[in-house]
Amino acid sequence: MTDVRNVIIIGSGPAGYTAALYTARASLKPLVFEGAVTAGGALMNTTEVENFPGFQDGVMGPELMDNMRAQAERFGAELVPDDVVSVDLSGEIKTVTDTAGTVHRAKAVIVTTGSQHRKLGLPNEDTLSGRGVSWCATCDGFFFKDQDIAVIGGGDTAMEEATFLSRFAKSVTIVHRRDSLRASKAMQERAFADPKIKFIWDSEVAEIHGDPKLTGLTLRNLKTGDTELLSVTGLFIAIGHDPRTELFKGQLDLDGEGYLKVAAPSTRTNVTGVFAAGDVVDHTYRQAITAAGTGCSAALDAERYLAALA
Ligand code: FAD
Repeated sequence: MTDVRNVIIIGSGPAGYTAALYTARASLKPLVFEGAVTAGGALMNTTEVENFPGFQDGVMGPELMDNMRAQAERFGAELVPDDVVSVDLSGEIKTVTDTAGTVHRAKAVIVTTGSQHRKLGLPNEDTLSGRGVSWCATCDGFFFKDQDIAVIGGGDTAMEEATFLSRFAKSVTIVHRRDSLRASKAMQERAFADPKIKFIWDSEVAEIHGDPKLTGLTLRNLKTGDTELLSVTGLFIAIGHDPRTELFKGQLDLDGEGYLKVAAPSTRTNVTGVFAAGDVVDHTYRQAITAAGTGCSAALDAERYLAALA
């Protein structure tokens, strides 16, 4: 057992590092579990980020995260590149156990474990991430001006991504596994009415082509087994996200999609002394700046909670 800390932060994306920066500057000496393999969060897997304020010429995702990390460390955040494997959030003193089995104790916990976009599970998908393959039209749509793009999925997110992308793209092809959409009627109608959007039904992506950049897809018709080549330089995968909340099931309230519930506009969860921020809470905006913003809010909420205990 370790000494009782003020605050432990679980997760190291923009939300976690921002919470670390603020709590460190408030002299709370946060302990931050960054994750064993994915320290730095989702932006470690991308190339250029053009929409994080303060970087006029854009910044590479890993560079942005290295800077956030260094900034938090500069003010005394203790960063540990390890996973948290279990938590007990019920008492006044919370416990967090790492992979070596060491139990860490704190008066407050901030959860910023993010969410994982669902993948197609194909070779090339990760290598071409940031080189034509994307999971975020708001982030990357601008890079695909006058290009042919495919969007995979049939839900609201896929329709929203496709209609957003059609502002920039030469063409947008929605590829869906079934012959009808899951998206709401209004979203469907918007997509059907858009002259730049066409649909390929009953089909899945069998192969992703390109080296070093995306050049096209092989599609397989699930009814006939026929394959066809679709030439595209952009692929947006919109088949859903899984918030990383496994650790908290049974302890923190989750919504119907598995995201942590907070008492908005605060970052308070249903358990006193436990706060949550970033994509693990947010299925609406999912941006680095919104994650950083709520990470700041969580730090301030935790700070005020700790001040009231003293
Ligand atoms: P994340 O960044 O997902 O970080 C969560 C962290 O928690 C991870 O490091 C993970 O390892 C850690 N973690 C999880 N579980 C545990 C555990 N049990 N123990 C310890 N650590 C744990 N947004 C933009 O604004 N602009 C862009 O250009 C942009 N491009 C993107 C490109 C890609 C390819 C992707 C995937 C996303 C992009 N986004 C972009 C979205 C942005 O990255 C996310 O909105 C943001 O990273 C969310 O921040 P977060 O801190 O909530 O979570």
